[in-house]
Amino acid sequence: MKPIVIANWKMNLTGHEALAFLEVFLKKQEVLKLAEVVICPAAPVLEVVAKRLKNTSIYWGAQNAHWEEHGAFTGEISMEMLADLECRLVLCGHSERRKWFKETDFEIARKVEQALAHGLTPVLCVGETFDERQKQKQEVVVMEQVRKGTELLKAFPSLSLIIAYEPRWAIGTGQAIEPEQAWGMARVIRSTLREVLPTGAESIPIIYGGSVNELNVANFVDNEIISGVLVGGASLDPEKFHQLIAQLI
Ligand code: PEP
Repeated sequence: MKPIVIANWKMNLTGHEALAFLEVFLKKQEVLKLAEVVICPAAPVLEVVAKRLKNTSIYWGAQNAHWEEHGAFTGEISMEMLADLECRLVLCGHSERRKWFKETDFEIARKVEQALAHGLTPVLCVGETFDERQKQKQEVVVMEQVRKGTELLKAFPSLSLIIAYEPRWAIGTGQAIEPEQAWGMARVIRSTLREVLPTGAESIPIIYGGSVNELNVANFVDNEIISGVLVGGASLDPEKFHQLIAQLI
């Protein structure tokens, strides 16, 4: 399986900046074909990125969308709109959304369900806070997030779902966790998936996110346990992001 590399640009890069990024990033495409690369720009930049990436090996996705089909939700975007832009995936329950926008596990479960209903791959993001890790609660917290985030999936016999394990205290801090700790948590996630899903638990990719860069990325990805990475800060520089991907090939 190709390693999965998802770029989360967060609230960075305008349309012009995104095109300038892609100009450099797409110069050496041979390497990029050997990974499953998905770029998640901010919502207003999606269309311009989608147009530029069409007919390349790179996919695009979104950082968030609403769980309702449509309606009076000022400022929100729907999964249908993302599907219309041919997005490959959508992040659901990123820790910054849990923290700043108080997203609950139930809302996140509904987003996962709604994404699947529109043919998008939901990337369910889970991870403990620093405080929870200090108290050795990381396994309980993450198991609960996986259970709750997948609880509406019974109606989907074949699942296209990705789980991103992102310890919150490692995101944007420059302090990645030890690869062995990430693998241990990936095993916990896998056994929780076996418990909650009637079938298909083995084929759901688990990826790691949290201060991944071109220097440490190769330590995390071991296709058997962790099959890729979710990258924030280090995906904003086209040369460095290209180098990061090259480390996995
Ligand atoms: C993220 O936003 O999901 C992330 C992992 O960020 P960073 O790589 O900057 O820690």
